[in-house]
Amino acid sequence: MTEKHVICKNCIMVEGFLGIEINEDQLCNFCADPNHVNPNWSKKRMSVEQKKEGLENWNKTVRAMQRAHDGKHYDCIIGYSGGKDSTALVDTFINEYQLNPLLITIDTGFMTDVAKENMKETLTKMDLFENHLMIEEPIPTFTKLYHYFFFSHNSHEKSLTVDVCHKCTDLIHTIAYKEALNRNIPYVIIGFSPDQIARYFYETSTEHIIMDGTPIPAFQTFLGEEDKQSFLSLEEIEKMSDFAPRVLYPYHVIDYDEHEIINRLESKGLIRKGKGDPVLTNCHVVKAALLHDFYRYGGITYALQYAELVRQEDDPERHNQSRKSWLRMYKQIGKRILDGTFNVEGMEAFFANLGITKEELLQRIEEKRHADPNEFQILQNIERIRTNKLR
Ligand SMILES: [Zn+2]
Repeated sequence: MTEKHVICKNCIMVEGFLGIEINEDQLCNFCADPNHVNPNWSKKRMSVEQKKEGLENWNKTVRAMQRAHDGKHYDCIIGYSGGKDSTALVDTFINEYQLNPLLITIDTGFMTDVAKENMKETLTKMDLFENHLMIEEPIPTFTKLYHYFFFSHNSHEKSLTVDVCHKCTDLIHTIAYKEALNRNIPYVIIGFSPDQIARYFYETSTEHIIMDGTPIPAFQTFLGEEDKQSFLSLEEIEKMSDFAPRVLYPYHVIDYDEHEIINRLESKGLIRKGKGDPVLTNCHVVKAALLHDFYRYGGITYALQYAELVRQEDDPERHNQSRKSWLRMYKQIGKRILDGTFNVEGMEAFFANLGITKEELLQRIEEKRHADPNEFQILQNIERIRTNKLR
């Protein structure tokens, strides 16, 4: 008996994972209907017009920065993670735009060594240590945030990875934003790729900056005075009515070519060959959350975002290639989670910090999964990875 195809033939979404269904044309909800909304992913549909407007605004903004540039002040803040996208932004700002950015890295306590090495290499090569600010003080606050999400997560529909990533990103961006606000730097530039449009396109409005900069009520009770320093204070919010730095995502509107970025960075020696892979540079928290979601929901949450990259590839050949390689990665990550070889050291450090063992976490997941009406399909999808039958 041949098993039915459970993977979307256009992208890499899998039937039964986080509410995804594959129809008789073998298409997932997102590929069958571009307006489909899922609690974990919805595509912000951007018209050509909106993209064009964004690009015009971006070109104007760069010119405004160049005009205001005096060599003494920072022209903008770049959120610098050590990943390929933010590294390429740094290169563009320095070498193409001839601007003077302040690079801010927020250490959440769980950055990977690869990201740190990439960073050191770039800063050395470009002689940028003076422009770099590493912020480590909020590490305990990040730990509390992760603890809160890993222990309070309780949903049959919503992935932990998506939740924890959004809230962690909000905190990272808020901390960078506070620097801009307090140093009177008018722009915060974030290297989100074109697929990272689940919430914002090109710019975050002031209203959303304030919302994201305020802890959610359920989490507030866990915060001490020290932790509150990492969120926007009332004075800062007040200051924003006079001076509100803009938060911009230029890759949403300028040409973004992943291969060009990797080639450029490797040829300039800013990232070592093969080290620009997001799976290597993404933090340990994401990986622990991926492990959680894999056992809890039966799939790799990365797929939501990577499927978007596949869909955005217009050229049929490249579309096919991209689909193949992300699918290969999907299966590999699943296998490695099952083998217990997925990011072992980082994962152990993370769980130790949370005060839980992997076994305890798996135990909790099993109980929750058992109460999930979709349990059978979840276990089936895990089994398909284990036995190489996912197709
Ligand atoms: Zn699809």
